[in-house]
Amino acid sequence: MIHLKKFLEEKTDKKIHIEVSEDRKNLVQIITKQDEKIVKIHQNLVNAPHPIIRAIADFITGKEKRKNKKTIVEYARKNPHLFSKQRKMNIDVTGKFYNLKQVFDKINEQFFNGSLSSVNISFGKRYYSKRHRSIVFGNYCPETNLIRINRSLDSDSVPEFFLEYIVFHEMLHAYLYLLDSGSTGHTKKFKMMEKELPNLEKAEKWKRENLSLFIGSKKEKHV
Ligand SMILES: [Zn+2]
Repeated sequence: MIHLKKFLEEKTDKKIHIEVSEDRKNLVQIITKQDEKIVKIHQNLVNAPHPIIRAIADFITGKEKRKNKKTIVEYARKNPHLFSKQRKMNIDVTGKFYNLKQVFDKINEQFFNGSLSSVNISFGKRYYSKRHRSIVFGNYCPETNLIRINRSLDSDSVPEFFLEYIVFHEMLHAYLYLLDSGSTGHTKKFKMMEKELPNLEKAEKWKRENLSLFIGSKKEKHV
C-alpha cells in the first residue's frame, strides 16, 4: 500500500493537504495555494492500487492530465461498488443519555481540525460476549466508513469522558486509515496520537475498574 500523502509530496515537492470527500462527480480536485496544494479526493480513491495512485499524482502535477484523468475515471467506472451511492445504513446517533453526533463533532473540531466530516457514526447493538468475558465498545469499518459504538455506553453510569475516549479512539482509526498511512492497527503512531487525549489515563483506569458494569458481576466471572 502506498502512503498517498508522502507519495504526492515527494512527487510534487510541495506540501500536500488531503481532504476526503464523497463527491462522486469530482473524484479529484486540486486547490493550489502558495506553498501547498489541497487535494480533495474521493474517500475510495485513497487506497486505490498503485497505478491509480500514480495516475492521481501525475494528474495533480499536471503531467499528461487528460490521459491520467481517463485512468482515474475508468477505475471508478470499473469499480461501481466503490463509487455508487452508499448503501443505506442504519444510522442512529440518539441515545437516552448521549447524542453521538454531538460527541463526534466536538472531537472532530478539537483534535482533527474538522477533517473527519465524511465519517459516519452510529450506535450499534448492545453486544457483549459472556463466554469470552469481553466487550467491544466500538469499531471503525473502512468499507462503509462507519464508526459503531456499543449501545451499552448510553447509560447514566458511563461518564462522558469515557464515551469520548471510545469515540476518539475509533476516530483516530478513521483518521489514520483515510488521511495518513492507511493502516487500521494500533501502530506506534496510533499510540502516540492517542496520548493527545487529556483524559486517556483517567478513561483507561475507569475501564479497568468498571468492566463489571458491562460483562456481568465478578461472581459470574469465576463460574
Ligand atoms: Zn482500536
